[in-house]
Amino acid sequence: MGLQFVGARAVSAVSTWGLKNVFHRPAANFPGKIALYVDPHLIANLAPKLEKGSICVVGTNGKTTVTNLLADALELAGNRVVCNRTGANLDSGVATSLLHAGPSDWGVFESDELWLAKILPQLQATYVVLLNLFRDQLDRVGEIDRIQDSIVGALENSPNTVLVYNADDPLCTAIADRAANRSVAFGVNEDLGLPQNSVADAQMCQRCSTMLEYAYRQYGQLGAFSCPTCGFARPALEYAATNVHLGLDGLSFDVSDETISAPYTGAYMVYNLLATAAAADLCGCPLPSLQKAIDVFDPQNGRLQTFDIAGRRVLLNLAKNPTGFNQNLKIVAQDPGDKVVAFFVNDKEGDGRDVSWLWDIDFEELAEDEANLTVFAGGIRANDMQVRLKYAGIDAQVVEDAEDLLAKIKGLPATQSAYLIANYTALPPVHSVLTAQAEAPAAQGAPAGSPAGAESPSSVASAPSAAENRDSLVIAHLFPDLLNLYGDGGNVRILEQRLRWRGVPVEVKRVNHGETIDLAGVDLVMLGGGPDREQRLASAELMGMREQLHDYVEDGGVLLAICGGYQILGREWLLGDEVVKGLGIVDMTTERAAGGSGDRLIDNIVLRSPLAQRPVVGYENHAGRTHLGAGVEPFGTVSSPTGHGNNDADKQDGVRYRNVVGTYLHGPLLAKNPEVADDLLSRALDRLAARTNTPRIELTPLDDTVEQSANDAMAKKLGARS
Ligand code: GLN
Repeated sequence: MGLQFVGARAVSAVSTWGLKNVFHRPAANFPGKIALYVDPHLIANLAPKLEKGSICVVGTNGKTTVTNLLADALELAGNRVVCNRTGANLDSGVATSLLHAGPSDWGVFESDELWLAKILPQLQATYVVLLNLFRDQLDRVGEIDRIQDSIVGALENSPNTVLVYNADDPLCTAIADRAANRSVAFGVNEDLGLPQNSVADAQMCQRCSTMLEYAYRQYGQLGAFSCPTCGFARPALEYAATNVHLGLDGLSFDVSDETISAPYTGAYMVYNLLATAAAADLCGCPLPSLQKAIDVFDPQNGRLQTFDIAGRRVLLNLAKNPTGFNQNLKIVAQDPGDKVVAFFVNDKEGDGRDVSWLWDIDFEELAEDEANLTVFAGGIRANDMQVRLKYAGIDAQVVEDAEDLLAKIKGLPATQSAYLIANYTALPPVHSVLTAQAEAPAAQGAPAGSPAGAESPSSVASAPSAAENRDSLVIAHLFPDLLNLYGDGGNVRILEQRLRWRGVPVEVKRVNHGETIDLAGVDLVMLGGGPDREQRLASAELMGMREQLHDYVEDGGVLLAICGGYQILGREWLLGDEVVKGLGIVDMTTERAAGGSGDRLIDNIVLRSPLAQRPVVGYENHAGRTHLGAGVEPFGTVSSPTGHGNNDADKQDGVRYRNVVGTYLHGPLLAKNPEVADDLLSRALDRLAARTNTPRIELTPLDDTVEQSANDAMAKKLGARS
């Protein structure tokens, strides 16, 4: 036993005592953090405490649930288990759990995806359970590829670890494909027949860049996929869920000749329980013990937790990325009655500073609910949520916090359930308020305030009858299946709604990979941003349309191009070391930073642009550095202390050329910058009039109070110069 190890144990013991007795705080991270500082091999030194072995649970969604359930099941089967139950999932959390434990049978540890590379080489876990990979906190991780590389690297440094992975997820299967470790596949072996959402996080084969095909798809990119070109496909399943039943108050499925049932709803819980069943079985834990663990599972941590507040059923759940949110909306939709829905969104470090992902969630499905909905938005980014909901046709009221929400819904019949959905750091305060109020005797106060109704937003004017029989303004969204990062598709939803609210007929054409369009009948083209692999494929498609696109732009066609799409407009752009020829529509080039592709420009950003009176607010995340040719006009000048725009030096962003606007601003750009949206629409209306030889339709003003509040909040927060 080394001196460092002894020292590390001593400092951790002192700090644990101090935290508990002096500061009365739980010691989930700190003791391990300082002990790791003293002995960087602490986890390796403590691992022999685990007599049977250990399991690391990683994946974007479901880690805490799977980790806790697996630990419970192993304990019920008679094992002594160490577990970082509260989700302290960095190396410090794992080290702290190990320091506090006595001799044990199994260690079950939730691990952050990127921190697995620190934890696994030390722990040399028996199993890594890989649940799924969805886009989440891209401002922290860049792109999903980076997480995949990191997990493969972790596995390479622990060659005896067996990878237990979700084979329905092509991103997890690609990891099993690349790592030399033995692997065990689990998946759902039948079509659940669920309605699909608009954005999936992976569409392409990572071996050969062909679009994947699906025999069936469950949600996101999960399903029975195969690549028509190279044969990369979902492998045979060692643990296959069959006879899946998804009901209003519960689910069940068969796996390994046992039936698992749970009082939860949602397809994602089938995957969580299936992953737990596979891991439990591999650890020699009988599945009936897992069933027992599920039956008494009550983690009280706000994940699918139900409260009784003054006779009302209130369900709280965590959702922190588009896929998780979409799954939550499906739970809300399953309830046929009138209900309350509240979303709490923060943008702290743990959440990711960027909230563009709100635009990748299909709130439009919520708007289609036939029941009466009362909707609220809370959290630091309540304004952004309110804007997003407005464009989905939902009038949401902003609340201060959960207490304010509960006061506002007091007047509604208690028969209406409330669904509270919160992201990472927004969840604990909501959870505390619900816990406190559920414990207190149901107060009989008078109804407070009139709740917001779910009528259409005030700016939804009924379409003037004169609009009937007019030609539609045509928006073409080019390759949305490839270029769809950070809610870029939201720009199209916004343009479309702003026309509908004014009674202007509009048609949106989504042109997917492999499809073609004649731009002569189009008034506005939108090109989004994409990860390198998708951008490369989209660029090949666009090069096939090169002449058509040139003619369209020179003929006054309106084009909005964001980030990856913007780069392709130039003469050339750099993908890694490869110089890719661009469309050459604008005199500009894009290169990579001297520091390599890891050196990305990621931040919130504010511009001053001639296209808007107000500051233009957005968010950037790109590796490319763009340089405009002499005399080419930028879209705007950077006015916030954060954010770069085109490159590290110029303090300018994007480009304006004829009716083309190119920019690095995601966000999506138009959500909080309605002036830019209307500028583009106004140009598109000119083109529509010329193209169809009909009178020019005027753009009537809209009530943009909600958008302006969101714009003000960000401009103020980012300290933009006016
Ligand atoms: N892949 C491109 C880059 O990193 C564009 C990224 C994006 O569209 N966000 O530069």
